[in-house]
Amino acid sequence: MLTSIVGINWGDEGKGRMVDLLAGEQDIVVRYQGGNNAGHTVVNERGKFVLNLLPSGILHPNVVCVMGTGMVIDLAHLDKEIANLRAGGVEVSPENLKISDRAILTLPYHVRLDCLEEDRLAGAKFGSTRRGIAYVYGDKYMKKGIRAGDLKDLDYLAKRLSGIVEYKSLVMENVYHSDPVSYDETFAWLKKYAEIFGDYIVDTGVYLDEANKAGKKIMLEAQLGTLRDIDFGIYPYTTSSSTIASYGPIGAGIPAARLDRVIGVMKAYSTCVGEGPFTCEWFGKEAEELREAGGEYGAATGRPRRVGPFDVVASRYGCRIQGADEIALTKTDILSYMKKIPICVAYDVNGTITHDFPVGEALNVAKPVIEYVDGWNCDITACRKKEDMPKALLDYVRTIEKMVDCKIKYVSVGAEREAYIQMF
Ligand code: GDP
Repeated sequence: MLTSIVGINWGDEGKGRMVDLLAGEQDIVVRYQGGNNAGHTVVNERGKFVLNLLPSGILHPNVVCVMGTGMVIDLAHLDKEIANLRAGGVEVSPENLKISDRAILTLPYHVRLDCLEEDRLAGAKFGSTRRGIAYVYGDKYMKKGIRAGDLKDLDYLAKRLSGIVEYKSLVMENVYHSDPVSYDETFAWLKKYAEIFGDYIVDTGVYLDEANKAGKKIMLEAQLGTLRDIDFGIYPYTTSSSTIASYGPIGAGIPAARLDRVIGVMKAYSTCVGEGPFTCEWFGKEAEELREAGGEYGAATGRPRRVGPFDVVASRYGCRIQGADEIALTKTDILSYMKKIPICVAYDVNGTITHDFPVGEALNVAKPVIEYVDGWNCDITACRKKEDMPKALLDYVRTIEKMVDCKIKYVSVGAEREAYIQMF
């Protein structure tokens, strides 16, 4: 049984929280794309954990976690993330964590290049998290990447690295007038992490294929959301990988496997970190109130998130592109302070009303068409059953579900694992 759990919007929908909740029913959880450029925040009985690279299933002792083929992995960051988890009493070993030998490694020179380029762009930045992600994915497609499996054969690694370092130094010195890349330092860095992670690096494709054939329950966990996908997102303000459910089996390392279920995680209002068109954006007092209520600051970077009302146009597009079978609607409790809740039901593009998510300049100039529904305006954090829901909350859920054309199965009313209502 293969389930994919993905973000419907711009990321930060609460995927980590939903994976943490649903991982209890799973045998294996796989992260299938991206690197440490985004963060999942998980709150459960052991405390609050921020995960940038590890699948959120790592907090369940009986779940095996896999870092899939489609990921880019900074092993120094992973080492720190694991140390933090161990300090919180979470066990991590080759028994419960497996790293794909085909995943690409993010190296210190990728981070350096990211910073050099962001500095060069100055005011015209794309909002990079400066963690080297675009540069490592760039190298992957230029066939200049180092794979995790290369650490298991240091002679082979040395040969690959010398050619790559020569190329990188040419770029550093001649494009950015910066220092060359040191082969010795880079090799020593890789050797250090080869010793730490050697036993974790395996052919995860074989492992997952056998598990899938044996009928194990496997969950594929995405990072970011539809609108940050390299192909279907708000290009060029996207990430460098595919955040879409149907890429899940490829990024996990089991390309022939079919998804049985796609769960889309969707926020009850809109948030967006970084640059790019964000049609529903609020400014000033209205925005501050919502940002404060929702604690909308990036888990990876601490950056204040841009906020606005629920966007039907973007979310319906998100559900369609993800092929979502069901939705988990998160952070509904944050809207409890509103007497009337605004919803963006369409876009006005130069006087033409559209319900389809536009591209290019049409998206840049789109204005939101807002309608209001009644708020519940009371504390809903203790609701656990449909019968507990105030009528206005139930109406909000039903209205949204109809507008985005996908069933809402879970309504989350708090960050804690048990704070949710199952609708069917
Ligand atoms: P992710 O990257 O999609 O996992 O999202 P983030 O972790 O960046 O952001 C989601 C934040 O909202 C986290 O701090 C969660 O603990 C929190 N959260 C998730 N669901 C809910 C909810 O229903 N209510 C509240 N109040 N917080 C939530």
